[in-house]
Amino acid sequence: MKNLYIETLGCQMNKSDSERISGILSHFGYVETDNEKEADMLIINTCSIRQLAADKAYSKLGVWGKWKKTRPELKIGICGCVAQQDKESIRQRAPYVDLIFGTHNIYELPSLIKRIENNEKVCAITNKPVVKNQNDFKIERKDSVNAWIPIIEGCNNFCTYCVVPFTRGRERSRKPDEIIEEAKNIIKDGFKEITLLGQNVDSYGKDLNDENITLANLLRDLNKLEGNFRIRFVTSYPSDITDDLISAVEECEKVCKYFHIPMQSGNSRILKEMNRRYTKEEYYQIVKKIRTRFPDVTITSDFIAGFPGETEEEFQDTLKAIDELELDYSNTAAYSPREFTKAAKMTDKFLSEQVKYERLEKLNEKNREVCLKSNEKFIGKILNVLVEGVTVKDETRVLNSRAGNNKIVHFEDNTKNIGDFANVKITKAQTWCLYGEPVG
Ligand code: SF4
Repeated sequence: MKNLYIETLGCQMNKSDSERISGILSHFGYVETDNEKEADMLIINTCSIRQLAADKAYSKLGVWGKWKKTRPELKIGICGCVAQQDKESIRQRAPYVDLIFGTHNIYELPSLIKRIENNEKVCAITNKPVVKNQNDFKIERKDSVNAWIPIIEGCNNFCTYCVVPFTRGRERSRKPDEIIEEAKNIIKDGFKEITLLGQNVDSYGKDLNDENITLANLLRDLNKLEGNFRIRFVTSYPSDITDDLISAVEECEKVCKYFHIPMQSGNSRILKEMNRRYTKEEYYQIVKKIRTRFPDVTITSDFIAGFPGETEEEFQDTLKAIDELELDYSNTAAYSPREFTKAAKMTDKFLSEQVKYERLEKLNEKNREVCLKSNEKFIGKILNVLVEGVTVKDETRVLNSRAGNNKIVHFEDNTKNIGDFANVKITKAQTWCLYGEPVG
């Protein structure tokens, strides 16, 4: 037995990839540990969405490189978006790294591992995936309640600020049968929640050239599977949310009434500069359509502060949009130029760091305000929640749970355990969570 430590940066797709890497390496005697100091193999799964995340990866490699000086048998690997994009720079900055592999090369690991165990330095980066059926490989899932299933990888949208089309390639959907088989195994293993993942999840099926293969139909098929579980899907691209998808969410009782729909900016000129394929008005219409169908739905979003050329007035449109749309929560970030992207070349329009961070702070302030308002709407309502964790404080057992609409709910209960569903009446709201008491 050898110890494996994987540090995962970035999005849920990376977390899902790490579970797959861990599963493959388990066939080679590697057991995952939380303690990097006792590991025989260290892997960093990187993110390049912002410079900060990329810098973090190099800083971790620097620390591990020092350890390797005293323990030359230690194996160091790097994968994910930085590896896919930056292999030359990794080789120069961290020549002691044993294994560099790209986002398309995870399923090549069985042969790559044998090579590094023979003391070869290996770099495997291709632009095309090398796997036919992901179900042929074991997955070491971390969470005991929720299981991720990547259903589509890559993106065709080329938003001008985003590296994903360069690091993850064009959209590739998995076949529905393969996804359903994975879901059946997940349910059999006792998971209570399935999250379908995709950088642009509602584009699912477009590349498979069969009009019946859509996210809506996949949800309908998964909903028919027996078992007490629920289904989520992230991340939605606003203009790819079809009426049929909304109908499927409505029809399928296992599908959570929750949408994550990044808007990025509340101003149509900036959206055009970002190469987003919708206007502010079109985004408003989508939100209105969803809210009319599901009164207790939550809609979350992403916003970028200080995109090149954004004026103060245009930024104010974003704050206004968050208010008017009553968005329940938003991920926010200051604009960070990424290599290869169009926006990174708009250097003459770059805003100062000070302006970007002032705007980010205002965005965060607005976010806190609308989050609290959104949470207060649920006081007195009964939400069905799934228990994700238990904390015992001063002899009181507090359950940490998540409602179908993604709200975090804490409640005291001595009978329920992790993986149980419960109905909870909401009694108190704070900015980031709700409190309640079990009913029925
Ligand atoms: S939709 Fe845009 S932001 Fe999202 S992954 Fe694709 S290119 Fe990036």
